[in-house]
Amino acid sequence: MSRRKKKSLFTRKKVSKPKYTIGIPADSEWKTMPDFASFIVADEEGNQHRFSIGETAFILPEGVLPDKLHHPTAYWIGRIKEIRARNDEDVWVLVQWYWSPQEVNSVIKSFDVSGCGQYERIMSDYYDYVSTASFCDHATVMRYDERSIDQEVFDSDDFFCRFDLEYRARKILPNITRTACCCGVSYNPDRDPVMHFCPRPACCAAYHQECLQRPTQRLDAAARARKFIESWPDTDEQLSIEDLVGSRPCRKRRKGPESSISDPLEELPEKLVKAAQQQIVKGVQAGGVVGNVKAVVAARQLIYRSLLDGSLPTDWEDKVDIEAAIPPKRKSSPVFVCPQCQSLI
Ligand SMILES: [Zn+2]
Ligand SMILES: [Zn+2]
Repeated sequence: MSRRKKKSLFTRKKVSKPKYTIGIPADSEWKTMPDFASFIVADEEGNQHRFSIGETAFILPEGVLPDKLHHPTAYWIGRIKEIRARNDEDVWVLVQWYWSPQEVNSVIKSFDVSGCGQYERIMSDYYDYVSTASFCDHATVMRYDERSIDQEVFDSDDFFCRFDLEYRARKILPNITRTACCCGVSYNPDRDPVMHFCPRPACCAAYHQECLQRPTQRLDAAARARKFIESWPDTDEQLSIEDLVGSRPCRKRRKGPESSISDPLEELPEKLVKAAQQQIVKGVQAGGVVGNVKAVVAARQLIYRSLLDGSLPTDWEDKVDIEAAIPPKRKSSPVFVCPQCQSLI
């Protein structure tokens, strides 16, 4: 899987009189200033860096020196909305800020910082005019929808954003309870070792392993693996593999007496079945921030469709990342039931 190349931040010449906190345009002046689509800043080595409207950037916080490198989390992050200038030397940017969880907590006391990762930022509707003298580098903030079954994977040191802040209303969207575990606490990707995800359409939720109950019925490994596949992302109905085959129109059923007794899964590629049998997990000890949600869901969806249709698309391997679904180190994880739908997770 291709990984975005990480760039290191660059340093800038120390300015004797930082001008980025003085001369901030008033709204009335801003309207009169000519606007631009991009601007260029030079680093200490003289390399030029172009920033354009719509891009996200690391911005030097007030009081932090520009000639030293700092940890990426020490910088402010903002999105470039407009660029205007008084002259070549005096260029300003209308920035839409990402807030840190601590900053959000300073205006919304109920916002729980302990449920946030150190690389988590909250997109605000709060804007400022910022001098281009404070721009340090391009930044990437991944959008993370915890309920999505096709969330793109990102690394544990990538910035990410799950929530938006409506500053005036002091409101966080979407509501934290929509994505939090049944215990009310959000997933913290820096702290939580294993979260179990239920992909059923009515659930699409992840739970701390320690918040879940074990199943009352004991199942052997083969029966368990089958139950995992039958936690279908396509339906909330309790449909077994055999139920799906049985619901096929007659002409799509295989002829011959033996097909009625053989296992429908045996007609499918072994590695696809293996991918679909995996528990859907994420966390520090469970395959990373986003985990194997997308890959295992894709495998189960392919099996669901092929059991209904009686055939698997020839390009099925393009639709599922087998490697991402199956953890490299096979460590048997305990089995739990989804607190909402009782499926095995
Ligand atoms: Zn919990
Ligand atoms: Zn569920």
